Amino acid sequence: MATTALALADILDARRRMEGVATLDTPLVPSPFLSEVAGRDVFLKLEIAQATGAFKLRGAANAVALLPPETEGVTCCSTGNHGRGVAYAAAKRGLRAVICMSTLVPKAKVEGIRALGAEVCIAGKSQDEAQAESERLVREEGLTEIAPFDALPVIAGQGTIGLELMEQRPDLETVLIPLSGGGLAGGVAFALKRIKPSIRVIGITMDRGAAMHAALQAGRPAEVTEVESLADSLGGGIGVDNRYSFSLCRDCLDDVVLVTEEEIYRAMQAHYYEDRIVCEGASAVGAAALMAGKLGVVKGPLATIITGRNVDMAVYTDIVNGRDVQLGDYLLKGAAYVA
Ligand SMILES: *Cc1c(COP(=O)(O)O)cnc(C)c1O
Repeated sequence: MATTALALADILDARRRMEGVATLDTPLVPSPFLSEVAGRDVFLKLEIAQATGAFKLRGAANAVALLPPETEGVTCCSTGNHGRGVAYAAAKRGLRAVICMSTLVPKAKVEGIRALGAEVCIAGKSQDEAQAESERLVREEGLTEIAPFDALPVIAGQGTIGLELMEQRPDLETVLIPLSGGGLAGGVAFALKRIKPSIRVIGITMDRGAAMHAALQAGRPAEVTEVESLADSLGGGIGVDNRYSFSLCRDCLDDVVLVTEEEIYRAMQAHYYEDRIVCEGASAVGAAALMAGKLGVVKGPLATIITGRNVDMAVYTDIVNGRDVQLGDYLLKGAAYVA
């Protein structure tokens, strides 16, 4: 493994630091259904047990805890799970948090962030304009920006999931990790490989607009066109000047596997009907790869991370009821669930 700026000690420190903000030792539960599918013991790491409904609270909690006492406040422009994590972690520390969003963000998301104690700043008609506003708050109001994945405190925070997996099931041989910007996969895979070099760690993402996959193929950060996906938490680029998450994913992931929208749809149904778990499309990509037989012969025991539960409930009920879902100009044909 190439040397990186990250050390296992940073992840151990992160765990201590995030206590009382993020939930530690989230459950690792068996999935009899997926075990049957894989012919191996399959476990689900339930990050849906975080107060904000997603693992991103870990990285946000560590990053906020590391800020010096004179910090004025924090900002970011995530409309999703990172924004929720930053809002919650800042409120716990009594810090001001300003989450910047474009006018296109649905009201429910705006209300969700406000309910976690943050100020919402609506600026511009695109994510880029919201990002520019967040940067202005850094320059003019002295706020500190918390990056969603390409920052060492955030990566170390996400990496604590790797420590827990190794304590909960030291016999794990394969771990599946939903992959977007690579803060989660980079941190968790780094921790796993440091503790157990023989473990196989596979990043899983959607087959349309997967920036980290494109970058790993190209050997450097690459631009992709973003499209709507059931795995909406896996969208977005990795940044052309990516500093940490790209090289960590390149060095620590054994493979990256892509799944289709149809496969994600069926996996969300399976988590619901078989595991009785409500989760986002981004969380179902591991099950999708297993169910589609895309991992070939896997070594077990195996774990997949159920990263979040902040799903649009209207779309979600359409999926569990087998109805069609319109994703931008792509019509995803529905089908009732059959085991
Ligand atoms: C952010 C997110 C991911 C991916 O994490 P990265 O660090 O960006 O790779 C996966 N699942 C959910 C629910 C997320 O919010």
